[in-house]
Amino acid sequence: MKKTAIIGFGCAGYHALRAMRENGYEGEIHVYADVSHPPANPMLTTYYVAGRIPYEGMFPFGSLADLVREYPATLHMDTAVSRLDTSNRRVILSDKTKEDYDQILIATGARAVSPALGKGGGNRRFVMRTAQDAQRLKKLLDEDNVSSAVVVGASMVGIKVVELLYDRGISVILTDLAPRMFPLACMEETAQEIRLDLERRGIVTMLGSGVDKVEEYEQGIFTYLTDGRVLESDLLVLCMGTRANVELVANTHIIRKEPVKVNRGIVADTHMQTTIPGIYAAGDCCEGLNIQTGTTALIGLWANAAEQGRVAGINLADGSAAYDGSLPSNITHYFDVDFVGVGDPDIPGQRHVFHNSTGTYALTEQEGRISCINLLGSYRSSGMLRQALMKIIAGKDPEFGPDRWGLLLASGVPEEFLKLMGGLL
Ligand SMILES: Cc1cc2nc3c(=O)[nH]c(=O)nc-3n(C[C@H](O)[C@H](O)[C@H](O)COP(=O)(O)OP(=O)(O)OC[C@H]3O[C@@H](n4cnc5c(N)ncnc54)[C@H](O)[C@@H]3O)c2cc1C
Repeated sequence: MKKTAIIGFGCAGYHALRAMRENGYEGEIHVYADVSHPPANPMLTTYYVAGRIPYEGMFPFGSLADLVREYPATLHMDTAVSRLDTSNRRVILSDKTKEDYDQILIATGARAVSPALGKGGGNRRFVMRTAQDAQRLKKLLDEDNVSSAVVVGASMVGIKVVELLYDRGISVILTDLAPRMFPLACMEETAQEIRLDLERRGIVTMLGSGVDKVEEYEQGIFTYLTDGRVLESDLLVLCMGTRANVELVANTHIIRKEPVKVNRGIVADTHMQTTIPGIYAAGDCCEGLNIQTGTTALIGLWANAAEQGRVAGINLADGSAAYDGSLPSNITHYFDVDFVGVGDPDIPGQRHVFHNSTGTYALTEQEGRISCINLLGSYRSSGMLRQALMKIIAGKDPEFGPDRWGLLLASGVPEEFLKLMGGLL
């Protein structure tokens, strides 16, 4: 009987397990997770800290008992895999235990970047990725008298953290080395609108300046910016991006004849198989095809991790599935606003920006091709639009039939914008 190991039990690991069982795999599945809780949705951490959902709400697929009842597997919780012996397809645990497998999926995700920035014990310094990060921040906010905070990182995680702190009546400064909000997703015009909206609410933004060092004391924390400004606050939250968890296969090229290729993430083919047959990777730990550039890159999106996990699971079950690739895309809901960004905002082209009472609609177009779309407002149809935009940028038909066109118009999308989107095919 075949024996499979899944390392990491987040979105990608869960979808792989589910796809294997749903596609008739009858062998053993061993899941290794360095945490004790069920697969978590990191996007829900800020909702838990804000008190909008209970602790269990961060685990969208249910309890471990329910999961293994539905998709049988042997769970090794609180068990970190420290290395893979790629030549022998062997998993090596932190206590040096070794276990052989016929096939292995690496679904170890990513961790929040948390540079060592200087003095202090770290009690006033936070990141936001895991359920434990959320518990730690919530505990401080519930038990301490926090009145001021600095948040570093003006993107999807940072803005959600700003929102939850602001809603608790805490005065917040948001900083970023990048000169604009959502630097990887926002055009200049939309970024400026988001920034002005935050400032109107009383949130101070300091963009274009990095963090040089941090000094932490019992009573507070000083953040030194590279432009010379020093910010004093009760706490500091670093939302500076993520790093793929690839250490368990790093340096295999040095010590093994058969390396798992790693760039910034583990490199996998369209079947999610790494450079070693029988070893697969999915989710934030691996690079995926960016269909806009044709290159592989870290993608870091929930839907992408789910799809890569599903594809890997089907292939591990001896089925045949391929991952088509993804686009940089972002839907962030903060305060009462939805921001939708699809495509690369730095690709040059002609900018078209429309405003109406429902929001802002912007796109970049060059020689009949759309390279980036930003929406900012309160959208009933943001999911539908995002899907259409993904198809347009990928050069596919957005399937704007009369029904869909009508729905989009009724939800406030300007007709000129829709014509540009549909007419540029
Ligand atoms: C605050 C926040 C907001 C976000 N907002 C959005 C959003 O709006 N839209 C969007 O698309 N995406 C968003 N994301 C990103 C999204 O959550 C991730 O892309 C997705 O969760 C990745 O899933 P994964 O399974 O690859 O990794 P993870 O969820 O990181 O799971 C990997 C698991 O593997 C475990 N693990 C790691 N190393 C080992 C090891 N050596 N041994 C055993 N276990 C190990 C980890 O502990 C973890 O449980 C957000 C993320 C955060 C933090």
